[in-house]
Amino acid sequence: MCRGNTFKRKFPLMIMVEDGPALSLGLTCKYCARCEFIIAHSHELEAELCTAFEKIAPAKTGNDYHVVGVMDKKVWKKGLKAGSPSGNAMDAVIFFKQYLTLEFSPGGWGYRGDQ
Ligand SMILES: [Zn+2]
Repeated sequence: MCRGNTFKRKFPLMIMVEDGPALSLGLTCKYCARCEFIIAHSHELEAELCTAFEKIAPAKTGNDYHVVGVMDKKVWKKGLKAGSPSGNAMDAVIFFKQYLTLEFSPGGWGYRGDQ
């Protein structure tokens, strides 16, 4: 929104899937440090989600989902090392305050409205 430069950074996104398990997914997003704004491409996110769900809950692949926040990186890494998410993963989630939908147009990324 500030039209400043964004840079790429990997975020452990916490995703709630309708009628399915919650999961954390490491995804490289664009990030604006000034606005604390994370931009994820829905097609990249959905591709990762499909891959994950084919392993853990194939019947739930394609269900509606909601990205609720970002997990604390330290907790997330601990979970990765242990091979499974830690029990209180939700306690380590920093929930998003606002969602915006951006669409690419020839003029650049644009703001379409609140969801
Ligand atoms: Zn910004």
